[in-house]
Amino acid sequence: MASSRILLITGVSSGFGRALAQEALAAGHTVVGTVRSEQAKRDFESLSAPRSLARVLDVTDFDAIDSVVAEIEASVGAVDVLVNNAGYGHEGVMEESPLSEMRRQFDVNVFGAVAMMKAVLPFMRERGRGHILNITSMGGHITLPGISYYCGSKFALEGVSEALGKEVEPLGIAVTAVAPGSFRTDWAGRSMRRTPRSIAAYDAIFDPVRRAREEKSGKQLGDPQKAARAMLAIIDAAHPPRHLLLGSDALGLVRSKLAALEDEIRAWESVTVSTDG
Ligand code: NAP
Repeated sequence: MASSRILLITGVSSGFGRALAQEALAAGHTVVGTVRSEQAKRDFESLSAPRSLARVLDVTDFDAIDSVVAEIEASVGAVDVLVNNAGYGHEGVMEESPLSEMRRQFDVNVFGAVAMMKAVLPFMRERGRGHILNITSMGGHITLPGISYYCGSKFALEGVSEALGKEVEPLGIAVTAVAPGSFRTDWAGRSMRRTPRSIAAYDAIFDPVRRAREEKSGKQLGDPQKAARAMLAIIDAAHPPRHLLLGSDALGLVRSKLAALEDEIRAWESVTVSTDG
């Protein structure tokens, strides 16, 4: 980034949020990070005082978000960049997974991110500048069996990001949906919520997926520090992208999905256009 900026990043205790905060601090920026405990707050603030600041906030505490953001604007300064990073993955066969898990998945990954954007936008709009990065996932473009609630939440955040970007671009605000592939964070480890198995009919399709994810946790291809550098580069860009994939796995899988989608659209084109008139 050319000049020193203030970044507000949700979920800086580990993974992408922590890596992005560290890279931004190393580049001379100020980072206000959200965490969920006093201990995590102390840890983060000791990283690079006085430029590493933390606020205790669960992004599902919707009633608290506006006042936390207003307090940051008043006491730290103008938030140049909001990074909606806080999120987690729910894993489970859809038929086996209670609706309460879907609500929680959407509360954190979608409603939390939207509440943060709604809190920051009045300030960015007033200034006529700002950049919002929403960390979605390749699971916001492609799907796998066993993570339907997660994919649903990330598709939702992709959609919200893209539409919001069209609304606020004329106001000087950029919105980028960042969709990582598999990275070495706590996502598939301590952070994942796994619904227990109950219906034997899904054993063949789901059990290998769960096993593979458990075995791969900690050994994924992607390096979060390199993702952080890529995100800093787009924050710096004159015309940031609306969508950014991170990782060659995401690139290959999303390209295949787009090609398969195009093939299916072509195969059924005559039925599609038969409804006009
Ligand atoms: P992570 O290491 O588990 O970090 C998740 C962060 O989000 C933690 O700081 C966590 O805080 C915070 N968080 C979770 N729920 C929260 C809530 N309700 N309120 C506030 N903070 C909350 O995993 P990560 O991979 O870096 O995850 C960051 C984002 O990347 C997520 O949105 C995830 O879906 C996305 N993503 C990850 C991958 C991957 O392969 N790693 C791929 C695509 C997308 P606590 O420490 O308090 O739990």
